[in-house]
Amino acid sequence: MSDRAYEITPFITAKQIAARVEELGREISQSFAGTEKLVVVGLLRGSFVFIADLIREIDLPCEVDFLEASSYGNDTTSSREVRIMKDLRGNIGGRDVLVVEDIVDTGHTISKVMEMLKARGPRRIECCAMLDKPSRREVEAKASWTGFEIPDKFVIGYGLDFAQSHRNLPYIGTVKFTDE
Ligand code: 5GP
Repeated sequence: MSDRAYEITPFITAKQIAARVEELGREISQSFAGTEKLVVVGLLRGSFVFIADLIREIDLPCEVDFLEASSYGNDTTSSREVRIMKDLRGNIGGRDVLVVEDIVDTGHTISKVMEMLKARGPRRIECCAMLDKPSRREVEAKASWTGFEIPDKFVIGYGLDFAQSHRNLPYIGTVKFTDE
């Protein structure tokens, strides 16, 4: 797939992202005001750029942890198995938790991850997704905060990859194969 020629078209600028991340940080800070300490959980790998910017806009005591989940499945059915490849270092029982996801697509990853983490007894757990493609949803999943709702396009940059490349683009772009 990656040996096909493709073009990247800018879609959401670095400036638009920064403005939205600032708003999200403010809303999250207000929502969790009074927390002893917020555990901000980044889902690897796609959320690492977003979480780095977002925590700097959160005006609360917080710590950061990471979780890597992989989803396996048959593209022709909506059955998917989500497995934890790298678990959290810390215990979230009784804690205030914010899960940070790069993009909610079919919804399988975030719904399974939230279910698994809720079973660990956090005091409160919410999710913030940078991007959401609601038209692709296969299972019910909705983040408490979403950066941008986008149409059904494959996006890269700002942490998101295409065949493990382009995570370092400072903006979000769409990929178009030139032979299409
Ligand atoms: P879901 O389980 O919601 O279908 O998938 C979520 C994961 O699929 C995301 O965390 C992300 O890693 C990947 N994904 C979904 N859509 C895109 C996209 O447009 N671009 C990239 N780079 N990854 C995507």
